Amino acid sequence: MLKTLLVIPPKYGIDYPPLGTPALLGYLKSKGVEAEQVDWNMEYCLAFDSGDSGDINKNSPYKHLLPDKPASEMPYNDNTYSSFFFTERILSSPLLFQFINDSKENPFHRFILEKKLIDEIIQRKIRILGLSIISPSQVIFSFTLGYLLKQTGLKIHIVIGGQWVSLYKKEILKRNDLTAFFDSAIFFEGETPLFRLICELSNGGDLSNIPNLIYKPVPEGFNQGTASGFSLSESHSVEKLNDLPCPDFDGLPLNKYSTTSDGKVSLTFETSRECYWNKCVYCVDLPHPKQGYRVKNPSLVVRDIKNLLQKYPLKELIISDPAMSPNQMRGISREIIKEDLKIQWWCWTRLDKHWTKDIFELAKKAGCRTIDFGLETASQRLLDFMQKGINIDIAKRVLNDCYDAGLEIDLQMMLGLPTETKEEALETVTFLVENRKLIKHVTFNIYYLTPGCLIHGNPLPLISIILRRAALYMEILRNMALFLKTIFRHFNFS
Ligand code: SF4
Repeated sequence: MLKTLLVIPPKYGIDYPPLGTPALLGYLKSKGVEAEQVDWNMEYCLAFDSGDSGDINKNSPYKHLLPDKPASEMPYNDNTYSSFFFTERILSSPLLFQFINDSKENPFHRFILEKKLIDEIIQRKIRILGLSIISPSQVIFSFTLGYLLKQTGLKIHIVIGGQWVSLYKKEILKRNDLTAFFDSAIFFEGETPLFRLICELSNGGDLSNIPNLIYKPVPEGFNQGTASGFSLSESHSVEKLNDLPCPDFDGLPLNKYSTTSDGKVSLTFETSRECYWNKCVYCVDLPHPKQGYRVKNPSLVVRDIKNLLQKYPLKELIISDPAMSPNQMRGISREIIKEDLKIQWWCWTRLDKHWTKDIFELAKKAGCRTIDFGLETASQRLLDFMQKGINIDIAKRVLNDCYDAGLEIDLQMMLGLPTETKEEALETVTFLVENRKLIKHVTFNIYYLTPGCLIHGNPLPLISIILRRAALYMEILRNMALFLKTIFRHFNFS
């Protein structure tokens, strides 16, 4: 079968390895595929990245695609060539190809040439290159590498996948010009589609039956480069978690991630996919329609943890489930305790009414160190409007139980939620201050509209609230005008 290289493209965080390529590598190896993975993001961040805005030349022809006034209060910079802001604008700009090909301005172009990444691909004898694009900040590198690779005329199939592809699947399908950067794109879960793609490409087969695939149809008698646009495969696959093997982190620079200390590494891990709640209207987890919440059996979770403990100098596991359910936490904790595994872990979840102090105590005994809860706002009106399914009084009870069980609490908060007023934002700040004893750490995110979320699919309730507010302001202005008119008449001003 054709040899496959999975790539973590820049620019992304370097705290710990993202789970995408290790999950795929574990799966491909379990099927007998010859595959490897590299973290070129790490190389870029450590040896090449010139800093937050150091990439930008004062006379850059792309300066108008960056914000006039960078929002310095944002937790990430929006005035770089890898920012969400620039990526969105360059992708819909006529300057896209110029930028991709601009070795002076495009830092990723320089990185690819200086680090001789194409030579590395050739030396490794790679025939299928998979780029895992989780965030918009990884798009420009991926497209630049794909473009430069295609210029060489080498017969290497370029497939992109990851969260970004899932979110922007409909937009990708409409863009024939993107065929210059990649040959196919896998949306939603990648294990079965990537394996099937490798099989079909290895055997000269038909791509149209591969699930979750956007691909270039090859007209009979022509080679792949002549296809003019993308097609969508008709089949669909959803992974069964109990059938998936342990993720494989081989090939990644584990000693270089910033959470590595004293030679011990933090690895990402999952025990479920999707969220059992799945109703928050802004959720960026995966676009709708969702595939459904699925859990891995706790005994298989423990099998995988044992495997990781044997293979790697493990410090802790970062369990990246979008929201671990109380049931799943109870089951996994019991199994870890039963098997007497010495492991530390933390996870994300929601402030569900089913959490109890007993579950938190069990988790603490099983090595859980921290729980990161997505609260977003302390305004009950906004929690209801966002369909968070959280009652703020129950949330306080859960936080107290978690704290009493001896677990650290991180909170995810969001500013600028649609229709949020200044008073509601201050209500959130007051909540955090009042409960500061319970909370170890707070992360503030800025609300960001993505395709595929419920707001994007149905903005009418939001528009009606904004219109109602506008009508209310108009009414206030009208009343003020009447009031002033009355005063003027009373005092006989003219
Ligand atoms: S709890 Fe989190 S993962 Fe679940 S639907 Fe809400 S935002 Fe999405």
